Amino acid sequence: MALRFYNTLTQQVEPFSTRDNVVRMYSCGPTVYNFAHIGNFRSFVFPDMLRRWLRARGFTLNHVMNITDIDDKIIRNANAAGKSINEFTEVYTKAFLEDTAALRIERPEHITPATAHIPEMVEAVEQLTKAGHTYVSDGSVYYRIATFPGYGKLSHNDFSGIRAGARVDNDEYDKDDARDFVLWKAAKEGEPAWDTSIGNGRPGWHIECSAMAMKYLGEQLDIHTGGVDLTFPHHENEIAQAEGISGKQFVRFWLHAEHLSVESQKMSKSLGNIYTLRDIQEKGYTPEALRYLLGSVPYRKKLNFTFDGLKAAMTSIERLRNYELRLKTSHFPEGTNDALETRAQTAVKAFDEAMDDDLNTAEALAAVYEYVRDTNSAMDSGEFKAGNVAGALAFLARFDSIFDVLKPTVKAGSLSDAEVETLIAERTSAKKNKDFARADGIRKELLEQGVILEDTKEGVRWKRA
Ligand code: AMP
Ligand code: ZN
Repeated sequence: MALRFYNTLTQQVEPFSTRDNVVRMYSCGPTVYNFAHIGNFRSFVFPDMLRRWLRARGFTLNHVMNITDIDDKIIRNANAAGKSINEFTEVYTKAFLEDTAALRIERPEHITPATAHIPEMVEAVEQLTKAGHTYVSDGSVYYRIATFPGYGKLSHNDFSGIRAGARVDNDEYDKDDARDFVLWKAAKEGEPAWDTSIGNGRPGWHIECSAMAMKYLGEQLDIHTGGVDLTFPHHENEIAQAEGISGKQFVRFWLHAEHLSVESQKMSKSLGNIYTLRDIQEKGYTPEALRYLLGSVPYRKKLNFTFDGLKAAMTSIERLRNYELRLKTSHFPEGTNDALETRAQTAVKAFDEAMDDDLNTAEALAAVYEYVRDTNSAMDSGEFKAGNVAGALAFLARFDSIFDVLKPTVKAGSLSDAEVETLIAERTSAKKNKDFARADGIRKELLEQGVILEDTKEGVRWKRA
């Protein structure tokens, strides 16, 4: 079956295609008022894996992510910290980019802050006004949602009985109530403001995504992603804005990632269970372990984060790395076992079919582990031949082109060549003394530092990962 996704808009799994080879994709990005937490990262690892899979299926990406660097929370926190908005958001933008890099989340083709798009937002508001969708109250511009009959089509809510004229101008919403939302907020004491043709003020939160998406991707997008909590009102408002301007369907596929809970509880300050990547690393876990854990549960399923789960992720990665090492360093008997070649093809097919099925990453992993188990026992029994290595490595590479966990994160202050050589010499003498535990320990230690050893007839060769 072909590549297909569950579309929140139609509430159905639909085959995915585009009008050309390019996928125009938009992902709601972070609000840079604090360090992103592991829940946020779930909704960013998801579009990363999606990107990678779309590419594996022959598409080219044009992917945009916004960075919300102006909103109520930012203004509140920056004021509390006694910093300007710019000084304040710079810190967390940098942290976000570092963390996403550590998590091997690919940079979208465009990742760009809202405040760099004030003219585009102003223009969008002007177009909405021209089309009769707005009104002004106390110097702020609002979207009158009664003028957009499709309002509610994404969240499948019936808003026909909305209270006309009831409006909200903060960025934090009451989730059950549809109200006219603010597009442009009149300037207030102690808040940043831009002097523009629609007045002195600042943008509301929702307009940035429509304006930026349309600037970089045009009026019609193939995919839009976000966390499930954004469906209403944020994405509903994005549709009202974009379609209110263009009169065309804004997005074909809306993909929403479910939330992450921690030890079965909602993340909250009072429970002290909001973890950042930095917290996780301080506890000794690697970024790739978190990436693996976040990616291992299909994106539409709730994910219950536990430290046991994170430990298990570390072990799973270790197992796969050991398997890769075994493939690369063992001396297998000459020849090719045809049945195992077929087995590798079946594994690739199972992996691909799982990923095509709305990114069923759990099934895809099952295909990997079944194959690893089968081939490990074939290696034990001598049936796995030198000619089977390439097929096995190719399958592992396909898995890793999406999951991207095999390469160890090189710790800061990595080893110098001389230090590597010293450790290798120590390992060789440990082996001579039959201290295999120590020898293995050194190999592992080097691997963690990004150094791969290969035992050859001529001695030990090494390279950096
Ligand atoms: P924010 O930085 O608050 O704008 O949120 C960035 C992204 O994180 C949005 O797509 C949210 O839907 C998502 N998000 C927030 N909390 C969670 C959570 N607990 N689990 C998964 N995603 C979340
Ligand atoms: Zn958005």
